[in-house]
Amino acid sequence: MPPTDRHVIAFDADDTLWHNETIFEKSHERFADLIAPYVDLSTREIDEGLQEMVKRNIDAYGYGIKGFTLSMIEAALAMGGDKVAPAALRAILDLGREMRKHPVDLIDGAAEVVTALHRRGVELWLITKGDLFDQESKIARSGLAEKFAVIEIVSDKNEEVYRGLLRRHGAEAGSFVMVGNSLRSDILPVCRIGARAVHIPYHVTWAHEFVAEPPKGAGYVTLAAIGELLRLLGEWGVA
Ligand SMILES: [Mg+2]
Repeated sequence: MPPTDRHVIAFDADDTLWHNETIFEKSHERFADLIAPYVDLSTREIDEGLQEMVKRNIDAYGYGIKGFTLSMIEAALAMGGDKVAPAALRAILDLGREMRKHPVDLIDGAAEVVTALHRRGVELWLITKGDLFDQESKIARSGLAEKFAVIEIVSDKNEEVYRGLLRRHGAEAGSFVMVGNSLRSDILPVCRIGARAVHIPYHVTWAHEFVAEPPKGAGYVTLAAIGELLRLLGEWGVA
């Protein structure tokens, strides 16, 4: 068989192609304002209470706005008990609804890079975790959906999941490059299966995704902005 020159460039979506964490961050602030009248806690303590609840609920609710909304209600009741007025709970539900309707705000340079790679005939994948319904809606509204040969919405991103995706689509780890903002989800598991990864940090890292000290020699490249990706892929000879 002739050697293949097939290369796959896979992108994470939230906080790699479009802004996401900033929407959650704003909601954390709104949540603290909404329940402050019913609790004897500082804004910071309220925020920590919510973060703790979100983390505790991930196994049950997964990643996404619906699960986050349930966690906000549960956190409000855990911190404020029966003192929390139904009006505040209604406002929390409204907040969740607003988050789902929030416009998809592309990160500077993301559309240009994806379009340029697509024009060059590079095989592009989108691999995102989270709520299926939210993610499908955001992908459709992003205007980038047709650029991707493969779109995968997964419940988690670990070595087993990445290996499974490569197997299912008949791709080799050696010709696979993952681009994303999260060391924990997009970079480290990809490096561990022998593929390459490009880390493009977002200015806010969700507490759950935070990795204190990336292992030395993990074998990935960090870029300051997605606009630098084409140059790097050119150097690697994959695009
Ligand atoms: Mg992300």
